[in-house]
Amino acid sequence: MDAAIETGMALDSARLLIDLGALADNWRSVAALAPASETSAVVKADAYGTGVGPAAKALLKAGCRTFFVATPAEGAELRSLSSTAAIYVLDGLPTGAAPTFHQHALRPVLGTVDEIAEWVAWRNDGGKGEAAVHFDTGMNRLGLTADEATALAGDASLREALGPFLVVSHLACADEPGHPANVTQLNRFRAITAAFPGMAASLANSAGVQLGADYQFAVTRPGILLYGGQGSTERPPLRPVVTAEARVLSVREAPTGAVVGYGATERLRRPSRLATLGAGYADGYHRMAGSTDQKRGASVFLSGRRAPLVGRVSMDLMVADVTDIPGVMRGDWAELFGENILIDEVAGHAATIAYELLTGLGPRYARRYVHGG
Ligand SMILES: *Cc1c(COP(=O)(O)O)cnc(C)c1O
Repeated sequence: MDAAIETGMALDSARLLIDLGALADNWRSVAALAPASETSAVVKADAYGTGVGPAAKALLKAGCRTFFVATPAEGAELRSLSSTAAIYVLDGLPTGAAPTFHQHALRPVLGTVDEIAEWVAWRNDGGKGEAAVHFDTGMNRLGLTADEATALAGDASLREALGPFLVVSHLACADEPGHPANVTQLNRFRAITAAFPGMAASLANSAGVQLGADYQFAVTRPGILLYGGQGSTERPPLRPVVTAEARVLSVREAPTGAVVGYGATERLRRPSRLATLGAGYADGYHRMAGSTDQKRGASVFLSGRRAPLVGRVSMDLMVADVTDIPGVMRGDWAELFGENILIDEVAGHAATIAYELLTGLGPRYARRYVHGG
């Protein structure tokens, strides 16, 4: 793998290796966790920063047929890659957008009474298209309230005009398997599915799939697990998909008591050898993952060993302590996250989640895709 990513990147300070084989394997692994369901793929936000074009092609090849995106623009881009995939747009239907949805065969996830009214008006005018309806079971972002759901269930002509739809809700706390909100939402969702007999239903994101068969319903909606992040806190992540690396720009010695980086937040406790790496917060590597005298930061992986960061992460640079790693040289590559440093570990040091690191990967990385077939 290392030899493969060397080529043609001599000028880059930072690079990403995106393993589409791992992505496909992860999709198959999530599908195996929910054998009675159809496993879709959530590819919003440029497939969690991995690149929706290559990612969707790999997922289509693995057998994925249903996709969820956030916005109509994301849906239209995905449509250009597959004429047959079912594409649901989670943000719902913007005012006046029904013809555009129809043009790209996008399915709005209708999340308000107004959106439903607009979609029904479009269909009553002879417009076509399939949709989902989002029901709120406790998150209070999008979706019909319990009263609105009851009203829809009782309105036969509205239901008729709407045609068959996917019944959708979303779990707020699935990443905490013991959280009581999970069972509360499951029970509310069961009541909703019972009110719409014959309709397919979809509740589970990645962590929801990991909650077990009760939560899986007809269609699952995994995102983060496909991209190598952790779904629930209880299970290990699947294969890492994204490896981020930064080049060693310089190696220097510094004495005990010297300080490193902006703000002089860390003072060396021993004579140290420091490697300065060519990536920083402009590349989406969070400043919060840096190190201070009070709080140790994240580590990088160099020459087969872990090297802790020293001092603050700056815009284009970060510094790692390589005192205990012999032979580190200018031009070497340090793994920021990947096989050896899990992305969730870095996210933890930055008080965030793998989702934010992936979707924040900056444009300066040289990107290389492997195992796309
Ligand atoms: C983003 C999203 C998902 C995917 O969530 P993961 O935790 O990444 O698996 C599923 N459903 C909805 C409604 C979403 O917004």
